[in-house]
Amino acid sequence: MEQRIVMLNLVQCWRCKQYIPPGQEIRARTMRTAVEQGSGLNSGQIDRYEPVSLCVPCDEAVAIEEQKRREQSDRKMRWIGWLCGGFFMMIVFISINAPWPVAVLGAGLLAWLGILGRTILALFVVINTLLFAPGKSFVDAHDTSIIVSVIAVIAIGKFLWPLFHSLSEGKTNKKVLPGPQTTQGNV
Ligand SMILES: [Zn+2]
Repeated sequence: MEQRIVMLNLVQCWRCKQYIPPGQEIRARTMRTAVEQGSGLNSGQIDRYEPVSLCVPCDEAVAIEEQKRREQSDRKMRWIGWLCGGFFMMIVFISINAPWPVAVLGAGLLAWLGILGRTILALFVVINTLLFAPGKSFVDAHDTSIIVSVIAVIAIGKFLWPLFHSLSEGKTNKKVLPGPQTTQGNV
């Protein structure tokens, strides 16, 4: 009887270390495979990213983990933005002699409405422009009305413009929801 040796080039899943049977789908994904300690000028942690092969269940598990991590860091960044922006906005309100509670509520309201960042940006642009054109005395004399009108314009832009837009486009347009993210590695 003839003996045969069959060589199978099996791929091992990087995560669960199991061999992926031939014919089954192999997913490729770039992942952090090691954290190295640098030396000399490059001291500190260096993350090493490499393409690895994964079985389908592991790839899906990793995708969920990455999504969660991304959402977590997004949330953290948003909080940092709210805190810094809110603090800045409070100082702006207090500089126009708004009482503390009004300053805190005002900054909180802007953050809640989701217009804190663009309000600060608009204030920065408008005030710098006015400082340049009519001058500092104009800004000092009208600081309250400048700040209030900038906030009003931003709020109108945020809430009235989309309304106007949707009315002019007609009600037949369905809102397109963003589909589920289909990420395949390489983050
Ligand atoms: Zn696996």
